[in-house]
Amino acid sequence: MIDTQREIGGLNAYCPTKILNIRIKIMKNIKEQIQLLLQKIKPKQISFAIKHSHNDIYYELIKITQFLPINVEFIERIYCVLNDIKEHPKCQCGKLLNYRCFSVGYRKHCSSKCSHNDIKTLNKYKETNLNRYGVNNISQIKNVKEKKHLASLKKYGTDCVLQSKIVKAKIKNTCLKKYGVNHYNKTLEGRKFNRLKALNKISFQKNNGFPVSPFIGKNEIKFINELQQYCNYTIKQNINIDGYFPDGLIEELKLCIEYDEKHHNIKKQLKHDKIRNKYFKSIGYNIFRVKEKDWIENKDIILKSFIKFI
Ligand SMILES: [Zn+2]
Repeated sequence: MIDTQREIGGLNAYCPTKILNIRIKIMKNIKEQIQLLLQKIKPKQISFAIKHSHNDIYYELIKITQFLPINVEFIERIYCVLNDIKEHPKCQCGKLLNYRCFSVGYRKHCSSKCSHNDIKTLNKYKETNLNRYGVNNISQIKNVKEKKHLASLKKYGTDCVLQSKIVKAKIKNTCLKKYGVNHYNKTLEGRKFNRLKALNKISFQKNNGFPVSPFIGKNEIKFINELQQYCNYTIKQNINIDGYFPDGLIEELKLCIEYDEKHHNIKKQLKHDKIRNKYFKSIGYNIFRVKEKDWIENKDIILKSFIKFI
């Protein structure tokens, strides 16, 4: 046993692949020995049995599993050898994973946040919901929606919890404390998450035969659907005009319909909208642009002007 240790140490300086091969050989032997032991004793008792009656296996096991911290329970080492784990398992974020138990092994994620951000988990979650309730997300169920509205109204006086000033301030504070900025989207991690989400969406659209289009807000769809009720032409969505995607388009009239949500009031976005308007006009399109605020406050006036417009 000591010789093998020396051999490993001696080779270490010269040829890492040889050491690895030796390690794998030892691992196989130890693995077989443990498997034999497990035929006679229960997993619960195996740590005790090896520690007290199989000194050789005990020391080899510790040597092979040197990648684990010193203070881990012995059963974790046994688990690693039995499952050919040769380095400490890591989460997708790079943090080391915690060992759970002999039958389950390691956790798949380091935190509930990482679990939530994992695309596999998200897809599983969607599948289960589709099978059980016929919707992607539980919050799309009518009853759940109503319950949420009522609860929010009772507690904060708003339709949605996120509209509450108290909650908004709390979120900002937490982000500032945690990341040094007031919104998670401003962190490097948040930006990365959004980029990957956008890529995911594009590949989904491509694989399922949908046209590749940018993100569409919920309110935009609602707005277009309402306008459609007053319009004899079909208002199309997701139409690509030289790389721009107007919220709605009446092809017969060459009319683009735009619904400006809050973020359109930011200077950068205003500039961008101007350039967009100019381009549409240069290729012969008219634009009917509505601000979210106006739509909420003066729907009738906007509807009247829309009807006049067409
Ligand atoms: Zn993680």
